[in-house]
Amino acid sequence: MTTEVNNFNEIIAHCKEYGFIFPSSEIYDGLSAVYDYGQNGAQLKKNIRDYWWKSMTQLHENIVGIDAAIFMHPLTWKASGHVDNFSDPMIDNKDSNKRYRVDHLIEAHAEKLALAGKKEEEFALLKTMDELLAKDDFAGLKKLIDDHNIKCTVSDTSNWTDIRQFNLMFDTQLGSVAGEAEKIYLRPETAQGIFVNFLNVQKTGRMKIPFGIAQTGKAFRNEIVARQFIFRMREFEQMEMQFFVRPGTEIQWYNYWKAERLKWHESLGIPSAKLRYHDHVKLAHYANAAVDIEYEFPFGFKELEGIHSRTDFDLKQHQELSKKKIQYFDNDLKEDGKPIGNYVPYVVETSVGLDRLFLTVISTSYAEEKWAKEDGTEDSRVVLKIPAKIAPYKLAILPLVKKDGLPEIAKQLMEECKQSFHTFYEEKDSIGKRYRRMDALGTPFCITIDHQTKEDNTVTVRYRDTMTQERIALADVKKLVNEKIG
Ligand code: ATP
Repeated sequence: MTTEVNNFNEIIAHCKEYGFIFPSSEIYDGLSAVYDYGQNGAQLKKNIRDYWWKSMTQLHENIVGIDAAIFMHPLTWKASGHVDNFSDPMIDNKDSNKRYRVDHLIEAHAEKLALAGKKEEEFALLKTMDELLAKDDFAGLKKLIDDHNIKCTVSDTSNWTDIRQFNLMFDTQLGSVAGEAEKIYLRPETAQGIFVNFLNVQKTGRMKIPFGIAQTGKAFRNEIVARQFIFRMREFEQMEMQFFVRPGTEIQWYNYWKAERLKWHESLGIPSAKLRYHDHVKLAHYANAAVDIEYEFPFGFKELEGIHSRTDFDLKQHQELSKKKIQYFDNDLKEDGKPIGNYVPYVVETSVGLDRLFLTVISTSYAEEKWAKEDGTEDSRVVLKIPAKIAPYKLAILPLVKKDGLPEIAKQLMEECKQSFHTFYEEKDSIGKRYRRMDALGTPFCITIDHQTKEDNTVTVRYRDTMTQERIALADVKKLVNEKIG
């Protein structure tokens, strides 16, 4: 199963050591598949979220953002299909009692075949699996598992139960008086908060189709196979945008957003060779086209973002269950000179996991570097080459020594810069050690204040990625950083 080779374990350790990500409630030995973001992780996550928000809302005049509640009326999830359909086919091993998602169990076996050089067998297995999943053919899937003698990683036996569906929604009670309580769900996706507010936003914002509604927020899924660090969590954050279009134009908009979203990931410094499209073989009950943008994580290519043409399924469902008319009056004119009139809009959605994007950014930017120094000895560093525009700290200000008036100059510069961007101040340790620490946090620029600064008002700027240094005027520091992060 484990293709978790490369430097995945080092990346996880780095995230912990430098205050990016901690296991949840670690003093109680953690909680499976739940994580906390530390001081640097929370800032990086916020910067990624802000970058998405800005590019969706500020840079698109026809997209607005909302912030809907996590709790929603229980009928929402009946309408969306989550109560009846949001389940994965699962299988239990009778000896270990370990439960597996069927596709994950088979994929893990396929990876083993690939590692053993049996590429054709791997391909045939995955193809058959996709076909059986598309037909919900559970008996066929069970036979596939048996025919390949796929074993449980814990008991090493192939003593399997039949395949069953397992709902992934968490539920809880609303209301404090026993007996009066009502079962409600923690939202498994943010999208429904957008659908139920379609009319509110359209009317109050006087929005004209095509237009979008964007939202970021927590979602909850009782994932069975929760592993691979923050890739698959039980509590995670989504950044979704529903784009409402005229029926019949949805495939054109689907292709537009498919291309736009790939470009957006590249704008975050993710190399195009590490990104690819994966068309869905089995379409969800609401979709007429769907694609994943996959990123090559340290454990292989996996879904980072989904782009789905969701038809008018959700709005129609909400219309039916709420008994409220959810329609749009299109006053553009047809060829006969009359307005197009009322319809239920079609929807193209873009849905990316913030945590998966965080892992993508960290995996792309993490580097272990070694080089020979002038005296022949080896030097090394671990660096996060995070794009300056989303780095947790943009600038570190480092007085060379803790005396001779250098800290005072440094603090004055700090006062000047911190209004504009996140700035780190550090006067402990040798300058070399402080540079290494800033590399590990992904800080793109370091400014060193030394004795020469007192004479000619210049400072050394050191660039994280190249480790080159140059002398610039103290007065130009803020401008330089602002230009680079702009
Ligand atoms: P997967 O097949 O990996 O379970 P999905 O197809 O169920 O994902 P969607 O329902 O399309 O995912 O959700 C949109 C996005 O939300 C995904 O592309 C992913 O980035 C993110 N996401 C979904 N489930 C999780 C999770 N358990 N942990 C972290 N991120 C998630």
